[in-house]
Amino acid sequence: MTNSSKGIIFLGLPGSGKGTQADLLSGRFGLSHISTGEILRQSIAEKTPLGQQAQSYVERGELVPDQLLLDLIDYALQNNKHQSGWILDGFPRTVTQAIFLDKLLEKFPQTSVCVVNLEVPENVLIERLLQRGRQDDTDDIIRRRLEVYYKQTAPVLDYYSSKGQMNIVNGDRQLEEITDSLEKLISS
Ligand code: ADP
Repeated sequence: MTNSSKGIIFLGLPGSGKGTQADLLSGRFGLSHISTGEILRQSIAEKTPLGQQAQSYVERGELVPDQLLLDLIDYALQNNKHQSGWILDGFPRTVTQAIFLDKLLEKFPQTSVCVVNLEVPENVLIERLLQRGRQDDTDDIIRRRLEVYYKQTAPVLDYYSSKGQMNIVNGDRQLEEITDSLEKLISS
C-alpha cells in the first residue's frame, strides 16, 4: 500500500443524498465518513458543550457558527483513524470554512482531494426531506435551510469552481447509478 490517501468533499443541497452516498462509498473504499450534521445531532443528544452551543441553530435550520465547526473539523481530520482517507459530508458550508479547510489540508500533502457537488432539482429535494421526517425536516425549517444554502453555501461552489476543483454529479437518478458515477470519479 502507498501512503497516499483520498479526501472526498461532498457538497449538495439538503436532501441531495450526500449522507447516503457517503455511507456507501466510505464502506467500499475504507474511508471515514465525517458528517458534521451527524456529529452535531449526536452532540445535542448527549448535551455536550458543543451540542449545547449548536442546538438552537440546528433547530432553526441556521448554520452553526463557523468557529465551532472549524474546531470540530480540525479535530476530526487530525484524529482520522482510516489510513485510506475520509469523506466530508456537510462541510464546508461557508467560504470561511472552505478557506480554513484548504489551510488544514496543507498538513496532509499526501491526501488527494476530490470535490463533488451532487445536483438534484429543488422539487425533488423537498419531497425527499419531507419523507425523511427528521426533526429539522418540517416545511418551514426546510425552507429556511434552503435559503441559508443559497446565501451562505452556494458561494462555496463558486470557490471550488474558480479553483478548477469542482466535479458535478447528477444526483437525480437511481441510487446505484449515482454510486457508480461517484466510484468512477473517486478512482480516476
Ligand atoms: P442537510 O444537509 O440534510 O441539511 P446535515 O445533517 O448536513 O443536513 O446538517 C444539519 C444541520 O447541522 C444544518 O442545518 C446546520 O444547522 C448544522 N450544520 C451541519 N454542518 C454544518 C456546517 N458545516 N456549518 C454550520 N452548520 C452546520
